[in-house]
Parts: sequence; structure tokens; C-alpha cells
Amino acid sequence: MKQQNQRPTRRIRVGGVEVGGDAPIAVQSMCATRTMDIDATVAQTHQLARAGAAIVRIALDNEKEVAALKEIRAQTAGVTLSVDLQENYRIADKVAPHVDKIRYNPGHLHHIEKAKTIRQKVKWLVDVARDHDLALRIGVNCGSVAPEFIEKFPGDQLAAIVESAAHHCELMNEFGFERFVVSLKDSDPAKVLEANRRFAERRPDVPIHLGVTEAGLPPEGIIKTRIAFEQLLARRIGDTIRVSLTLPNERKHEEVVVGHQIVSDVNAGRFISVPNFGAGLNIISCPSCSRVENEKFVELAQQVKKLTAYADRYKITIAVMGCRVNGPGETDDADLGLWCGPTTVNLKRKERKLGNFKYDAVLPRLKEEVDKLIAERSTAGN
Ligand code: SF4
Repeated sequence: MKQQNQRPTRRIRVGGVEVGGDAPIAVQSMCATRTMDIDATVAQTHQLARAGAAIVRIALDNEKEVAALKEIRAQTAGVTLSVDLQENYRIADKVAPHVDKIRYNPGHLHHIEKAKTIRQKVKWLVDVARDHDLALRIGVNCGSVAPEFIEKFPGDQLAAIVESAAHHCELMNEFGFERFVVSLKDSDPAKVLEANRRFAERRPDVPIHLGVTEAGLPPEGIIKTRIAFEQLLARRIGDTIRVSLTLPNERKHEEVVVGHQIVSDVNAGRFISVPNFGAGLNIISCPSCSRVENEKFVELAQQVKKLTAYADRYKITIAVMGCRVNGPGETDDADLGLWCGPTTVNLKRKERKLGNFKYDAVLPRLKEEVDKLIAERSTAGN
């Protein structure tokens, strides 16, 4: 019989870690190092595991990186590893022998092998997972919703992501596969809260991985994460969590420390309350991963925060992303978006691209745009 405080989800095994049901909430994190840099990735995997990460995720999207992963696995025996397939689900069978779990994004399955149906692709991923004794994560993200669900739920992003996740769960059921978790992420804690609440109501049996993606720099990124996690965990929603903060590599383990702190605070009934948090300036920034294109990214996010502090009371959202692959899409909802390339930073205002700027030239240009937005909002009485 289930105890009152037990989460209603089924318990599954991810490598040596149990997730769901009455298992402790597993705090996980992700390497931000280049996967090709084996030494740095091995060191960061150990750094995260030492801080208490039950699962460490590594991003990977090409075959060259698979060779690096093999070596990373050899040097991190004992750590439960997950891999993020990003946009190339086709390499799943190559990475499978070296990890314990694979995350795929339902929004990234349509890009390749267009002649195959989504059902065929998911069936193949399930077969790979089964053959290699792996768990799967269906990782749905507001920034990359599968096109068929955007079309089906025009203007209702929450319905689109919840239905997309539920559909993939049904596929798992159809294929008789139970070792999977689901995540529904966004950078807005209110959306994360609502999406996970709705999903948990729909599929109370499925273990949930919680995350507020691109929460940004601490301390604001921690506050945003807490807003969603505290309320969800208090409702017994969430079996594994990842705190996504923009941090330099030497401080990356702080994500894990914060994750454990949140779990322990919720267990002890300690909740924070931040009246009107997010009512003014909102800076979103990604936690970076192996795709980050210039090591100056974290510094850039910090500079943006410092430079725009004067606009604190204005409702302006600025998004700072680490790469050109996800940068354009992940900045779509922001008033001003920046994403890094190897030598330049792209800047846009809503959908309008303003150009590429050298790292030292983008900040004054950004300030011009912030000033314009403030002037417009002041005129409009905001
Ligand atoms: S925006 Fe790019 S660099 Fe940042 S976490 Fe996402 S994929 Fe990685």
C-alpha cells in the first residue's frame, strides 16, 4: 500500500539509481564542458558527482563525440551517466553502450529521416534502450515543441507540450516500455509549474524530471527555480530534479548543492516567498553545455546583468544563450535576445535581427535597445 507521502509514480532504475515512487528525489546535473575535451569532461563529471549528483548528463550530437564519450565512461566508472541526444537521435545506438540513460526531445525527431514516422523513430529508440538496459527521458521543452502539436494547439503552448509528452508516454505503453521519465521545461517558472501539474494529473504513474531551463545567474536563477520546484515538490510532483544555472565551470557543482538544499527545505516545510519576483527586468540565460561557442559566454551573461541593472523596474525580458543552434529559438519570447557565436554575438529585438557584434561591442548596442524600450514603455505609461 502507498504511504501518504509517497509519490504516486512508478519506480524505475537508471544505472545504479532508483527514480520514482518511494525512492529519494535524485538531484542531477549536466556537464558544460566540451565533450571532445575528455579531461575537462571527466573532471566535471567527478566534480558534479562529488557534490551529490545522482546522475550526470553529457550532451552529444555527433559520432566524433561518441569516441570521446567512450573514454569519459571508462574514466568515470561508478557515476550514473545520461546523454542528451540534442538534435541527432540517430546516434542513440552508438552512445547506448556507454551510458545508463538517454534523453530525447520529441521536438527534435522530425528534422532527420523525414520519410520515417515519429512512431517508427520512437520504437527504434525504445529498442535501443531495451537492448542496452537503459532508461529513457522524454524531454519536452517549450522552446522546441514538436510542430504537429503546435499546429494542433495554436496559441496554447502549455497544452501543446503536455499533449506531446502524453502522446510519447502512450507510445511507450504501446511498446511495453516502462523505464522512462518525462520532463516539461521552460524558463518561466509559472509555466513549468502549470505544465507539470497538468501532466502529473494526466499521468500520475510516470516519474517526472523537474527543471526550469535557462533559469540564469544566481541568485535570481535559484529564486526562479525555487518558485516552481517548491510548489511542485510540496504536491509530490517531481522524482528527479536539475537546477540549471549560468555558472563558470569551476562553480558548476553549485547546481547540485542548490538542488539538495531545495529538496531538504521542502521536506522540512521551509518555503521562500518573493513578492512580485519577475515583475520587472527578467534576465534568462542558459546553463551552457558542450555546444557553447565561446568561453566568454558566462562573463557575457554577467555583464548583461550588470549593465541592465538600471532597468530593474521595467518589465523587459533579455535572453542570453550560449550557442547558435538553440540561441535563435530560445530567445524568441524575449524582448531582446543575444546568442553567442565563436567570435561574435547575435542580437535581436523580438523577431528582428539587429546584427552580429564583437563581444566588446554588443553591450553598448544592447544598452541602446534597452533605453529605447524604457522610453517606449514610459510613454505608454508602463
Ligand atoms: S543554448 Fe546552446 S549552449 Fe546553451 S544550453 Fe542550450 S544548447 Fe547548450
